[in-house]
Amino acid sequence: MRRFVLKLSGEALASSASDETIDASVVDYLASEIASCMEIGGLELAVVVGGGNIWRGATGAMAGMNRANSDVMGMLGTVINALALQDAIETHGREARVMSAIGMDQVAEPYIRRRAVRHLEKGRVVIFAAGMGNPYFTTDTPAAQRAAEIEAELVLKGTHGGVDGVYSEDPKKNPQAEKYSEISFDQVLAQDLRVMDLTAITFCKDNQLPIRVFDLMATGNLRRALAGEAVGTLVK
Ligand code: UDP
Repeated sequence: MRRFVLKLSGEALASSASDETIDASVVDYLASEIASCMEIGGLELAVVVGGGNIWRGATGAMAGMNRANSDVMGMLGTVINALALQDAIETHGREARVMSAIGMDQVAEPYIRRRAVRHLEKGRVVIFAAGMGNPYFTTDTPAAQRAAEIEAELVLKGTHGGVDGVYSEDPKKNPQAEKYSEISFDQVLAQDLRVMDLTAITFCKDNQLPIRVFDLMATGNLRRALAGEAVGTLVK
């Protein structure tokens, strides 16, 4: 069995067409992509979902809130997203479990590594919610950390804003920017390329955990990425 962690931002669940915080049709699309991948067989998939469509800790901190409190609000936002995703994945006929890093037994299982691995072995999609349960992080870092902890071979960083990989510059600002098919962690760090948060990049580098950055909103891309096709950019 090959094991993967997919990181998707909370904003991927929001709608560009309307001002919905969680757009049911987008969630349905993401769930169908995930469920269809599980049909390939031979793979296990865990998902780390962000909460930026609901709240980001830094936003509150900038407005004068206590940073730790504000970050807890952000983590709770990820739980809402995780529940939406779980529901949609199950609608597509796949079992999914939400495991939260913050105790909330009535709505989600607590995160226990061995139990997460057991769910994966049984073919369930595991959704990690509430990040790592600690403030001062974004969900990029728990995506990397959980991947290492459950011994996943690759972090799949799905993008949603139309940027389909890692570029030498922001391709929206400079259309001449070069897209990399492969890039090293050192290059990402040296060029300060915004692949994932710096903490997550450093963690992946230290633990030799590769990241594939790809456009999650292009139908079939997740499947291609899981099949090892060269979609987007591989950071290693
Ligand atoms: N967060 C946190 N610790 C974690 C993960 C997340 O405090 O381990 C908080 C943080 O405030 C963050 C928010 O949850 O801004 C939402 O996550 P994120 O910004 O990563 O969401 P995304 O941009 O992926 O939608």
